[in-house]
Amino acid sequence: MPVERERLDADVLIVGAGPAGLACALHLTRLIAQHNAAGANPEFSAENIYVLEKAREIGAHQLSGAVMDPRGLAELVPDWEKTAPLESPVTDDAAFVLTSANVWKLPITPPPLRNHGNYIISLNKLVKWLGGLVEKSGVNLFTQFAGRNLIYEGGGIAGVITEDKGVDKEGKPKDNFTPGYELRAKVTVLAEGPRGSLTKEMVNRLKLDGLNPQVYGIGIKELWEVPPGRINPGYVAHTLGWPLDSSMYGGGWMYGLPGNRVSMGMVIGLDYHDPRFDPHEAFQKYKTHPFVKRVLEGGKLVRYGAKTVPYGGWYSMPRQYVDGGLIIGDSASLLNSQRLKGIHIAIKSGMLAAETVFEALKTGDASAKTLSAFPRKIEQSWIKKELWAVRNFHQGFQHGLYAGLFHAGMQFVTGGRGLIDPMKIRPGHEEYHKLNGKEPAPVRFKGDGALTFDRLTDVYHSGTRHEEDQPCHLIVSNLDVCATKCVTEYGNPCQYFCPAAVYEMVQEKGLPKLKINASNCVHCKTCDIADPYEIITWVPPEGGGGPNYEGM
Ligand code: SF4
Repeated sequence: MPVERERLDADVLIVGAGPAGLACALHLTRLIAQHNAAGANPEFSAENIYVLEKAREIGAHQLSGAVMDPRGLAELVPDWEKTAPLESPVTDDAAFVLTSANVWKLPITPPPLRNHGNYIISLNKLVKWLGGLVEKSGVNLFTQFAGRNLIYEGGGIAGVITEDKGVDKEGKPKDNFTPGYELRAKVTVLAEGPRGSLTKEMVNRLKLDGLNPQVYGIGIKELWEVPPGRINPGYVAHTLGWPLDSSMYGGGWMYGLPGNRVSMGMVIGLDYHDPRFDPHEAFQKYKTHPFVKRVLEGGKLVRYGAKTVPYGGWYSMPRQYVDGGLIIGDSASLLNSQRLKGIHIAIKSGMLAAETVFEALKTGDASAKTLSAFPRKIEQSWIKKELWAVRNFHQGFQHGLYAGLFHAGMQFVTGGRGLIDPMKIRPGHEEYHKLNGKEPAPVRFKGDGALTFDRLTDVYHSGTRHEEDQPCHLIVSNLDVCATKCVTEYGNPCQYFCPAAVYEMVQEKGLPKLKINASNCVHCKTCDIADPYEIITWVPPEGGGGPNYEGM
């Protein structure tokens, strides 16, 4: 029986309260205030802006390294230096190459990794603070609500349906069943972060793909408290090399925070070849390197998290506008993968989207034609300048580190063009090599419980929590493929790439079967991206579920 839903109408609906979505909401309230103060007609109200956030509170799903270039924030909040929660200005930075036993400091820090003028932040704290500003300006912020489906109308979108709450594992309504809302808006802005579920669906359905497919990395992070004197607040170190081999794209980081805390982690391109490579294990091994261990030894793990990063850049940008809708921030591939920075671009893209949306409200025309002003605004802003210079960067690394460094050098001297422009790339999941059946079964990493940890211990430190009795939010369209083809061809990579031990191959009546421990999921979206047969779809679970990246 069709569910009867309450309908709410807004001027603008923003899906996702990250830096891009909140910047869009905040800037829009200012444009509205100026417009109303000038006595222009019709008047608009900030109350007619809705922001949806699936986390239990604003910022709880926000994870980043994070060294922020303050350029975007300075435009959004002029007194940011006095009011924003910044951990530390960067005081010193360095880059290192690791082998299994040695470390070499590069004589000069490569320009993209220079961070003077930038700030080490907790993205969780920054977004919580931005959320406070948005709420104060009168916007309706709904936490614990996820956009489950888009409302398609004409050639575009007209809003979202939020998820039904109180549904059991079998899909039947429980006593607390509450149908999702039908939220309609003149403009719907998708700011879901990397691999947004609605964005993915809309890009596929309306054929909005860019020149290249989107490619991703996985970032795995731990926050530690360490004995005094191990690392200075504001110190930023980036590493290349071990434990990754030269066919892989990625590296590690260590950032010193006040209060003897360290942010550390690795980002690894999800285009590696070995289907049984385990990014979580690689990061745990990384901590055993003498260069890293000397900082952490005797310290304590405080928090853990994982999230994907869109690496594709300019040529992977989807078309960002449709009738009634825009895509912004990481969802729109607006991140500089060479500098490993996207917060400043996400904020700026939110502001440019706000200006576009406001024109649509004023003219009463939210058609694709009006909203196509958004990519033009990006073209005319510093976003284009920054991303255009690195438009072929990640593609240059598809044949390994050394080829990548060569291409990066050529691109540097030619303003991003390099030897081939545009350089094409394949989706990462097509890069796996098939197994030959002779490989020994991998031994799963357990960790020593002091410096290194297994995935379940780390998940515990992510604060992840889900309602157990709800439909599985990881939809595998063909379990037979998992139990037959994937076992022999790839050895079930989901068991290895998931940093939260969600996927497990078990034996049932002597046959392999995929078991999904959905409540461990930290919402990183890796499975939706890295599954070789593309049969896993991540959809939002009941709102409020997921990690709690407090202080991360
Ligand atoms: Fe990430 Fe998917 Fe594992 Fe969830 S199930 S933690 S989204 S890989």
